[in-house]
Amino acid sequence: AKTWTLKRHFDGFPKASDFEMKLEQLAEPRSGEVLLEALFLSVDPYMRPYSRVRMKEGDVMIGGQVAKVVQSRNPSFPAGSVVVANCGWRTHAVSDGAALTPLAAGWPQEVPLSFALGAVGMPGLTALYGLEEVCQLKAGETVLVNAAAGAVGSVVGQIAKIKGCRVVGCAGSDRKVAYLRELGFDEAFNYKTVTSLEEALKKASPEGYDCYFENVGGPFSSAAMPLMKPFGRIAVCGSISLYNDTTPQTGPYIHTHMIFKQLRMEGFLCSRWARKDQEALQKLLAWVKEGKLKCHEHVTLGFENMPAAFMGMLRGENTGKAIVKV
Ligand code: NDP
Repeated sequence: AKTWTLKRHFDGFPKASDFEMKLEQLAEPRSGEVLLEALFLSVDPYMRPYSRVRMKEGDVMIGGQVAKVVQSRNPSFPAGSVVVANCGWRTHAVSDGAALTPLAAGWPQEVPLSFALGAVGMPGLTALYGLEEVCQLKAGETVLVNAAAGAVGSVVGQIAKIKGCRVVGCAGSDRKVAYLRELGFDEAFNYKTVTSLEEALKKASPEGYDCYFENVGGPFSSAAMPLMKPFGRIAVCGSISLYNDTTPQTGPYIHTHMIFKQLRMEGFLCSRWARKDQEALQKLLAWVKEGKLKCHEHVTLGFENMPAAFMGMLRGENTGKAIVKV
């Protein structure tokens, strides 16, 4: 098996020399085990902050993949079946089944398997739980989402539209902004080219925001917080603008807004509602089948290009879910 390891802990933005490809000799699967072959691998922002806390130098990079069972000694995962496997940046792996999830029941042939890493997988669940559980979104409300053209953000906007809300999204290129409009966002703008973020956010929704789905953090939060409506809810999903910082930023200073507007701000991990995953995946899959949830993918070809795909995603090269096809 080929693997990608963390050669050196990232210092600031990841570099190609921080990764090292290694060959791994795999043992034959024993009773209860399966041999997996990766079809699609996911590159996600969480890998950057988690590398520091969950990995030591030399470890195989963490991550999920859609894999085919090529040999099975575990009746729950027969040979030929497709699973979502949390087994890191590896082309092949032997698993005892613990880190495996079968594809959502009734997965239709016309839905690409790679969607299990995106809209019908962890990013889709994150969007759904952030809106339903954390924001407790209601029809007619106005939702703001940043990193809106990405894996989570694009699903956030579309679910909010399905639920009868008004949606404002921000992304880092004009092409991405056009994509957001295609997806049905009511307002969208390029946060990199506006002269004032505050003015652009105000213009997009003069009456303010009921819900703010936060993927970015930092200066964006400082601009968005004053525009929350009274009793607004902020789902803190991610803070990608801070992940590569070498010195922590100060601010945003939000207390006055939190108090006088009586806001609720809550950080969350999608794993909190794991017991609901199967039901939630069925909901997402149904929206995909009905054409209500569209999923663009940014596909990088070749396992050897995993680091490039990961760094490209952090730089914003992806529209939709960033994946690698082996
Ligand atoms: P995306 O597909 O959105 O890819 C990352 C995007 O972030 C890039 O395309 C880029 O888009 C944007 N970005 C990168 N740097 C910056 C920056 N400095 N300022 C603003 N935007 C930036 O990734 P995901 O959808 O997978 O993840 C989105 C967020 O959700 C992340 O913060 C991630 O950590 C979080 N997350 C949290 C989970 C949870 O359980 N809490 C689970 C999954 C994801 P652009 O061109 O628009 O700048």
